[in-house]
Amino acid sequence: MGRRRRIRPSTAEIVVVGNEVLNGEVLDTNSNWLARQLYFLGLDLRRVTAVRDDLKEIAGAIREALRRRTEWIITTGGLGPTHDDMTLEAVALATNRKTVLNPEALEMLRERYARLYEMGVVKESELTPSRLKMAMLPRGAKALRNRAGSAPGSLLRYKGSRIISLPGVPRELKDIFVNEVAPLIRTEARRVVRYVAGLFVKGVPESSMAPVLRELAAERPRLYVKSHPKGMEEGVSLVEVVVHSEGQDPEEVRREVESAIGVLEERLSAFQPAELRRMSMEEVLGGGE
Ligand code: ATP
Ligand code: MG
Repeated sequence: MGRRRRIRPSTAEIVVVGNEVLNGEVLDTNSNWLARQLYFLGLDLRRVTAVRDDLKEIAGAIREALRRRTEWIITTGGLGPTHDDMTLEAVALATNRKTVLNPEALEMLRERYARLYEMGVVKESELTPSRLKMAMLPRGAKALRNRAGSAPGSLLRYKGSRIISLPGVPRELKDIFVNEVAPLIRTEARRVVRYVAGLFVKGVPESSMAPVLRELAAERPRLYVKSHPKGMEEGVSLVEVVVHSEGQDPEEVRREVESAIGVLEERLSAFQPAELRRMSMEEVLGGGE
């Protein structure tokens, strides 16, 4: 493998906000979804932190991420109209500023409630204090349009970091991320290209294939090779072997992974009675989108 200039992808962290997550009421699927998006956008996600709906806890988590000079800090949850939604207050606190009425956010909320009023969803189109609360963003922040709900997201650039705040409702989080955040990451972040593929192996216990995997990993240090035991079926072990690679050239990264899978296929088929099946990237990643 030739020497290549390695680029260091931009760092990211996720801060999950919500008592419901820490109480075990709600499964935090948002960080999982975001992690996958960030992985395939080519960022380096370093940490996921979950905190309660508490001003100091949220601000503390953001300050810590800033102290680590994390370039992309994404929060989820706590943007809504109720008193326990305080993420933007916390972003302001962590960056020594106040929240102010944001004109872009205000306009988005005006349009939103005018439409909901026309549709008969709400009885008044006025921006009540609860609705206006959602237009209070940290001073200097940019509002991110929410096409799937009311509360706009927020983007605050602070020193070398960007603090992006998204709603907790998964549909709204995804909407803002896909339409507003991903394009920004594509243009502003240092990124790598990633590729993943796998081999589903029936009949070779994980402990028996360990030397084969270790050898492959040693031969190809740029790859990440990992086995995931999937239990037994009629006394036969099931193991998923996954190979990841990253770099700059999509075709090269794909080729490296596919070639490693080919080598594994060859070496593992020496075990009897091994049964091997290639897995696509989609299959390796499972149910998510
Ligand atoms: P809204 O503007 O709709 O109030 P919000 O930003 O205030 O959104 P939260 O009040 O924190 O969001 O959460 C709203 C709902 O979204 C929760 O009751 C829960 O069902 C879901 N939710 C929140 N956080 C997560 C999460 N991390 N993973 C999955 N679902 C979540
Ligand atoms: Mg809420």
